[in-house]
Amino acid sequence: MPAPTRILWRSWSSTLQLPRSRFPARVSQAEQARYLEACTDHLYAWQRRERPANSTFVLHDGPPYANGRLHIGHALNKILKDMVCRFQLGHGKRIDYVPGWDCHGLPIELRALERQREAGNSGGGRQMGEVEVRRAAQELASKAIAEQRTAFQGWGIMADWENAWWTMDKGFEMKQLSVFREMVDQGLIYRRYKPVYWSPSSRTALAEAELEYKDDHESWVAYVKFPITKLPPALISERGLDPQNIGALIWTTTPWTLPANRVIAVHGELKYCVVQTTKYGQLLIAVSRLSQMAAILGEEPTVVVENIRGSELGGCLYHNVFQGGDAAPQPLLPAPFVSADAGSGLVHCAPGHGMEDYDLCLKHGIEAVAPVNDEGLFTEKAMPHSPKTLQGKSVLTGGNDAVLKYLTDLGHVIASYRYKHKYPYDWRSKLPVIIRATEQWFADVKGIREAALSSLDGVTFIPEGGKTRLESFVKGRTEWCISRQRAWGVPIPALYHIQTDDAVLTKDSVSHIMEVIARRGIEAWWTDDENDPAWIAPNLLEESGNAIYRRGKDTMDVWFDSGTSWTQMQERISQQGQPLADVYLEGTDQHRGWFQSSLLTHIAHQNRPPGQAIAPFKTLVTHGFTLDHEGRKMSKSLGNVISPDEIMSGTLLPPPKTKRGKVEGSQGQPTHDAMGPDALRLWVAGSDYTKDIVIGQSVLKAVHSSLQKYRVTIKLLLGALEDFDPSSALAYDDLTKLDKIALSQLAHVTSATLEALQQYDFSKAVIAINKWINGDLSAFYIESVKDRLYAGLPGGISRRAVQTVLYHVYNYLQAMLAPLTPLLVEESWNYTPQLLRNANAHPLKRIFPTVPAEWQRKETATSVPWLMAANSAVKAAQEIARGEKKMGSSLQCSVLLAFDETENVEGSPVMRVFQDYKDELDSLFVVSSVDITVSSSVPLHVGTAEWHYATRFDCSEGQMATAYVFAPLNEKCDRCWRYVAPTRTTEEDTLCGRCEDVVQGISATDLPPVAAGEVPTAAAAA
Ligand SMILES: [Zn+2]
Repeated sequence: MPAPTRILWRSWSSTLQLPRSRFPARVSQAEQARYLEACTDHLYAWQRRERPANSTFVLHDGPPYANGRLHIGHALNKILKDMVCRFQLGHGKRIDYVPGWDCHGLPIELRALERQREAGNSGGGRQMGEVEVRRAAQELASKAIAEQRTAFQGWGIMADWENAWWTMDKGFEMKQLSVFREMVDQGLIYRRYKPVYWSPSSRTALAEAELEYKDDHESWVAYVKFPITKLPPALISERGLDPQNIGALIWTTTPWTLPANRVIAVHGELKYCVVQTTKYGQLLIAVSRLSQMAAILGEEPTVVVENIRGSELGGCLYHNVFQGGDAAPQPLLPAPFVSADAGSGLVHCAPGHGMEDYDLCLKHGIEAVAPVNDEGLFTEKAMPHSPKTLQGKSVLTGGNDAVLKYLTDLGHVIASYRYKHKYPYDWRSKLPVIIRATEQWFADVKGIREAALSSLDGVTFIPEGGKTRLESFVKGRTEWCISRQRAWGVPIPALYHIQTDDAVLTKDSVSHIMEVIARRGIEAWWTDDENDPAWIAPNLLEESGNAIYRRGKDTMDVWFDSGTSWTQMQERISQQGQPLADVYLEGTDQHRGWFQSSLLTHIAHQNRPPGQAIAPFKTLVTHGFTLDHEGRKMSKSLGNVISPDEIMSGTLLPPPKTKRGKVEGSQGQPTHDAMGPDALRLWVAGSDYTKDIVIGQSVLKAVHSSLQKYRVTIKLLLGALEDFDPSSALAYDDLTKLDKIALSQLAHVTSATLEALQQYDFSKAVIAINKWINGDLSAFYIESVKDRLYAGLPGGISRRAVQTVLYHVYNYLQAMLAPLTPLLVEESWNYTPQLLRNANAHPLKRIFPTVPAEWQRKETATSVPWLMAANSAVKAAQEIARGEKKMGSSLQCSVLLAFDETENVEGSPVMRVFQDYKDELDSLFVVSSVDITVSSSVPLHVGTAEWHYATRFDCSEGQMATAYVFAPLNEKCDRCWRYVAPTRTTEEDTLCGRCEDVVQGISATDLPPVAAGEVPTAAAAA
C-alpha cells in the first residue's frame, strides 16, 4: 500500500506523541475517601496477612489524652509515627501499630463536673457522687475517642484502629493492676505521711510531671525573728548578750508555712554573729549576710558577739509563737542545704511543707505537721491556742496576710515585701500549688533507678540529646507519688482498717481484689456497699465473716496508667530478652512523663539487676512543639491557633488563580486549593521535628507548591508512559548519555532519600527529593528529552530510551513518596496504565527498590557540573537575545561553545567531556544545533550570522569558554520546530530529516485523530 502523502495530515501535531493522562491536575475531593481507605485500613489489613510474622516492626503508641479537639501538635506526632511505619513497610516488615488513648484523670473529671453543673444537677448544692462522676467522665472520654479517631484516620494514619486500646478498658486496667501487684510484691509500693505537691484548686496530690513553672509568680517575702529561749553553753557567758531579747532571724517566701515551723537550720561551717538593733533587739544572723541586713533593718546594727561557728549553735532552742506559750521549745539544727548567699543564713524549716525540711526532721525524729486542708485552708491546728485567728483562711491569700499581721503585731516581722520568682502551678487548673504533707502512696524509684539508667545504654535516641534529658529526670527522682484523691481513675487496691485506718496492701490482698473486679467489673469498687466483705481477702475477715476493713478511695496517677501501656505488646512480652517496641515517638515533654513512667514500670516488672534490665523501647524519638510564624506558642487567647483541618482545606492560603488571573469558584466565592491529608503530611515531613517547628503562610505555600510539583510530575510521567510496555524497556547500554546522567541522578536521590529515612530524618529526604525533582528531573532531563518523547518515532529506540528512564523515575518516585504522601501515590496507581500495572506490584506494597550498580556512574559527578555550567551560560546568552527580541523559543538559535586557547586545552578532561557529549548537547541545551571549538576570538560564521550574543563562563578550574548564541543556520521544521530543516523551496511545509523519517514510519499506523480545537504542537508541549 502506498504511503499517504504528507499533505494528508490535517496537522503535524497529530503525528506527535503528546502526553495524554487522565490523572487530574488537582486533588479530586470526590475520590479522596476511596484513596484514603485503600492506603490506610486496607493496606494495614493486607500487610498483616501478607508480611511475615517473624519480621515485625512494633511502634508503640504514646496514647493521646481522650479529651477535647485535636491540634496541630497531634498531627505532627501521629504523622511522624505513620511515616516511620510506612518506611518499615517499604522494607518488607509486618507493621504492628495499635493506637491507644489515655482516658482517666483530672481534666476529664473536671469537665464531667462542669457538665453536671451546667445541666443544673447540682442545683441543691449536692456534690456529684463518685459513681456519677465516673459515668459522666467515661461518656466524655468515649465520645472524644470516637471524634479523635475519625480525625486521625483523616490524616492517612495506617493503624489497627479496630483493636485500639484505651486505659479505661477493663482488660487494660487488669494488666495495669498486675504490674502494680508485682511492685507491691517487690516492696516497691509504700504509704507515707510526707510533703507532696498539692493542688488546692484540683484538691489532689500532683506528680512533678503535672507541674508547670511560672516565672513571675508573686509572693510575700518576710524576714521574721523567732525568740531564742535557750542559748548554747558556748554563748551563755558572752558579755553584751541580752538572753531575754535575742531572736533568730529567718527569711521565707511562704510566710503561711511559719505556723508549721519545727526547726531552724544553720550550716555547721558558716560563721554567725549576734547584732544589736534599736527596733528589734538582738538578732542572730550569718556574718556573710550582715551587709545586706543593714538595708533591710534600716539601721547599721552593732555586732555584740562575732564569729560563732554554726556547729557551736547546737543546743540552742527557740519558741514558735503560733504554738502558744505552753508549746515545747524547738531546736536549731545543722543542715547542708543552708546557704551563705541568701536570706539570713538561718533557714526556717516546716517539715510538713518542704521536702528538704521533711528529710532533715525525719533524721532527727521530728514529726511533720501540715495544718492545711485539701482546699488549701488553715485548720484549727495552725494556731491551737487561738484557732480562729487562722482557721478557714486560704494559705495562698488571706491566710498568708493573717500570719504576717499576727507576727507584725508582736513586732516579729523585721521586713516584708512582694517578690517575683519561679513557682510551680497545676498544669491543668493553671493555679498555684502548695507543698503539703498528706498520707500518700509512693513507688520507690531509688530501688530501680540504677537498673533503669543502665537499660538506657541499649537505646538509640533521636535526637541524641534525649538520653541525657531522660537520664536527668530519672536520676532526679527518688520516689513517685502515685495516689490521687480523685474518682476518675483506676483504684489503688488498698484496704484500711475501719477503726485504726491502718492500710493493707499485699500481693494476696490485691490478687483477691483483682478476682472480684474480674467478676463484678471495676465500677463495683465504687458501687458496692461500703461494708461488702466480698472485697476483703478471707484471711483479713473477722471470724464472724464481717469486714473490719474498708476499700480505699484513692486512684492511681494517670502516668501509672499510661506508663503500663507496654502490657499491650503481648506478642513481644512473650519473646524474652529484647525491647518490646522498636520505636517510641513522642514530644520532648514526655521525658519527664510517659517515657519515664513506661521505663520505670517496665524495669520494675522485669525485676532484674542493673546491666540486665531492658528498656521497653529500642529507639526513642522525640519531637518539638509547634509555634506560629512569629515563634510564639499557639493559644486560643493569642488567636494564633492553626488547626490541621485548615491545612488540609488550604484555607490558610489565598485561593489559586485561574489562567485568566481570576479567582476560581462560582458567584465570586473563592475556592481554596484543598490538597487534603498529603498537605498536612508534607508539612510534617518537611519540618525539622527535632526542634520546635514554626508554621505559617510562607511554610504552607512552599508545601503546596512542592505537592503540586509532585502532582504535575506524576501527571507528566503517566502521560509519557501511556503507550509504554515495560517489557520493551531498553538495556542500560542502549541509552543515551543524557539518559545515563538522569539515571545516575535518580540513583543519587534514591540513596540520599533512603539514608535520610533510615535516620528518621524526613526533612532531609524532602529536601533531596525537591532539589532533584525541580532541578535534575524537570529543568534538566524532562526539558532535554521533550523532542525525543513527543516528536520521535513511536516505538522507536530514541523514544523508548526516554520512556525507559521515565519508567524508572516513576517507580522510584513512588517509592520515595510512599511514606510521605501516600494518598498521591495511591491515586497515581489508580491512573497507572494497565501494562505498567501488570508489570508491578502496588507502589505502597512494594519493597523499596535497590539502585542498580551500573546507574551509579562516578564520572558524571565531575562531568555534569561542567555541562551544567555551559547550559547556564547558554541560557544567559539566550536571555540577552530575547531581550533584544531576536528569538523566542529556545530552539530558535544555534550555539557554539568556544574554549579559550590555552596551552593544554586540547585533550584536556573538560574538552574530552564536551566532545564526548557533543551529539547530545543540542538536546541538553534545548537548541537547534551545538558546535564546539577552541578559539579566543569570534569565529567567522558566528560573526557573520544575522545576530549573535555571547556569555563567558568558567567550565572547570579556570578553563574559560564563551557560549555564543546566534541566528539559526537552517529552516524551522514545521513538525518539531527545531531549526534543522533544509532550505524551503516550495510553498509546502518543510520537515527535518528526522521528522520526514518519523512521518513515513508512522503513516500506516492508526493514530488517534486530533480532537476539535486541540492543536497541540511540540513547542506548545514544551
Ligand atoms: Zn523535525
